[in-house]
Amino acid sequence: MSDQTNQAPLLEVKHLRKLFPAKSGFLAKEKTYIKAVDDVSFTLMPKETLGVVGESGCGKSTMGRSVLRLIEPTEGEILYKGEDFRQAGGQQLRKMRSDMQIIFQDPYASLNPRMTVGEIIAEPLNIQKRCGSKEEVREQVLKVMEVVGLNPKYYNRYPHEFSGGQRQRIGIARAIVLQPSLVVCDEPVSALDVSIQSQVLNLLRKLQESMGMAYIFISHNLSVIKHISDRVMVMYLGHVVEMADKKELFDNASHPYTQALLSAIPVPERHSRRKKIILQGDLPSPANPPSGCIFHTRCFMAQEICSKQKPELKEIADGHLCACHFCGLNKGE
Ligand code: SF4
Repeated sequence: MSDQTNQAPLLEVKHLRKLFPAKSGFLAKEKTYIKAVDDVSFTLMPKETLGVVGESGCGKSTMGRSVLRLIEPTEGEILYKGEDFRQAGGQQLRKMRSDMQIIFQDPYASLNPRMTVGEIIAEPLNIQKRCGSKEEVREQVLKVMEVVGLNPKYYNRYPHEFSGGQRQRIGIARAIVLQPSLVVCDEPVSALDVSIQSQVLNLLRKLQESMGMAYIFISHNLSVIKHISDRVMVMYLGHVVEMADKKELFDNASHPYTQALLSAIPVPERHSRRKKIILQGDLPSPANPPSGCIFHTRCFMAQEICSKQKPELKEIADGHLCACHFCGLNKGE
C-alpha cells in the first residue's frame, strides 16, 4: 500500500443495509426480512486492500455486491471518488461502473462457455466502447492476457479447455481490462487447489502494484486474508464486529468472534501453545437475529448484559474498532 497521508478515500460506505424478503407461511401476519447486511460502514483508500472475513452466511459477499450495486442496497450511502454512487444513473453510472469491477469465486460458473477467451475479455471494452476498431480491441485483449500470464495463442479457445487456475486468470483479465480503480475480489481463490491459490494471490498483488487498484478482498480463510490485506474487517451476521490494520488485528484481536477465528488457523503443532476456541452452535438466522449482542448465543465470554444491550462498534485503539461490551479487556492469547 502506498503512502496515503492526506489522500481522499476512494470509497466511503455509510450505514449500508441489504434486506431480502423472507418466505413466510400463509399464516404469517407480518412480512419478515433476512438482514443480510445490517448497518455496515467503512472507508477504502486508493491502492488499499481491505480484507473481509467471516463464516459462510455472514453477509460478506452480499456486502461486496451491494457496494457495486450488482444487487441494489436497501439503505445507506456509497460515495465513490466523492460522488454519490447510489444516486448515479445513465452515463454517470456507466462511467462509474467501468471503474469498479468484480472477480467471482467460481471460475467455472462465471465464464460464458459459448464465448472464446478473446470474446470474454473483450466484452467490457465493447460495452464501454473503449476502442475505435476491432484490431484495437484485439490488441488490448492480447496485452491483458500477457499481463495475467495467459498465452496469447489461447485467444480463440473456450473456457472448458482450461484448468481452474487458468480460468480464474481469464476472470481476472476481464476484471482489469478497463483499468479500474476498485476491484471486489469475492472469494477468488477458494474454488482453486491450494497449490494454485498462492499463484493467483501473487498475481493479484503484482497487478495491484503495477496498476494501483484498491481491493475489497472477501474470504472465509484468515490465512489468505493475512497474506493479502492491509486492513481487515470481520463480519458476523451482517454486522461488522471488528476492524483494524492487519498487524493490529492479528496481534491484538479483541472481539471473541475474531479470537475464535484466529484460533482456528492451522499452525505447526510444535510452534503452538495457542488454545483452540470452538464455537458452539450454528450461525443464527439473519431473519431473526439474537437480541442485544448478535454474537451472544455463541460467545464464550457472554455475560448477562450481552443478551440485553447491543454493543456499539467503538474505537479501542488507533484505527481499531470493536463491537463488544468488554473490548480491550479480553485480549486474545
Ligand atoms: Fe461476547 Fe458479550 Fe462481547 Fe458480545 S458483547 S462479543 S456476547 S462478550
